[in-house]
Amino acid sequence: MRRSGALAAGSRMRLSIGTGRRLAALALAACLLAAGHPVWSGGTVVTATARPGVQASPRAPLRLTYFIGTGAVDGTARQSDRELATWALEAWQRNVDGAFTLEAAPEREADLRLYWVSNDASLYGQARRTGTGDRPQAVVVVNPDMNGLGPVMAARTTADPLLRDVIVYLTCLHELGHALGLAHTDDFADIMYTFGAGGDIVEYFDRYRRQLMRRADIASVSGLSPQDVTTIRTIFRQP
Ligand SMILES: [Zn+2]
Repeated sequence: MRRSGALAAGSRMRLSIGTGRRLAALALAACLLAAGHPVWSGGTVVTATARPGVQASPRAPLRLTYFIGTGAVDGTARQSDRELATWALEAWQRNVDGAFTLEAAPEREADLRLYWVSNDASLYGQARRTGTGDRPQAVVVVNPDMNGLGPVMAARTTADPLLRDVIVYLTCLHELGHALGLAHTDDFADIMYTFGAGGDIVEYFDRYRRQLMRRADIASVSGLSPQDVTTIRTIFRQP
């Protein structure tokens, strides 16, 4: 999936990040590219250990706040991509059996922050946990630029615009999974599957695409496997 010679791309990255976070995000993204993660790379920096009983109880679900950046001014991210990221957050939330709630918050205050990063280094996305305690806190970056994912993906998503939104949505879902504490798996059925394990990456996206009639269907077709759901519920297990 990697395009050759793409890693000297730090200066070519185009970011859309809110005021006050721009430099930090630039440093993060540059680090990721320098590290050479090909795809689904968040798991390399996320603690894999599940942490049972994360400050949740049946009567007092954990209140998680989030911030989603606006689309990149260069047009590779769209305002509507924020909806895809929101649907991804909601997919995790409605499968966690009431253990946490989600609430939009200002960037500075948000537990989970998602930004759009365009690059040409075949990076789908990245997640970095930032919290030091049990509370999930993370910075997620997602690449909405299909041209950066190589000629196959560029051609496929040009021919089928909904496939482009599928890739952005599933990338958000995967990286937000890391943000919530999930590690990679080697099961092709899982959203937390790592492309580093091989397999047909195009089919990985196509199988989800086949479940959709229209874009709005993404809001109700989670893309999570039974194992993904079991794992998120274990992490946020009620005491
Ligand atoms: Zn990953």
